[in-house]
Amino acid sequence: MDRIVFGEYTVQDLVILAIVLAGVFVLFGLLKKVFSSSKKDKHTQQVRCAACGWQGTVRRYAGVCPKCGAKLGERRTDSR
Ligand SMILES: [Zn+2]
Repeated sequence: MDRIVFGEYTVQDLVILAIVLAGVFVLFGLLKKVFSSSKKDKHTQQVRCAACGWQGTVRRYAGVCPKCGAKLGERRTDSR
């Protein structure tokens, strides 16, 4: 099979470049995940559902229990 050459780059070079780029994207995705979870306090709240007793983290402005759908409002269980 002949080597197809794009300018100075061979197909093999492009494949390696694609793999490297994919690796970088995966790495950035992981970093983004880490950063977004470290500052989750800003947009989420720890709540305990009065209706069903479910406890966990929900989006602050969603305000609905993911288990039973009862309205939670902007309530916090921490004493701040
Ligand atoms: Zn509930």
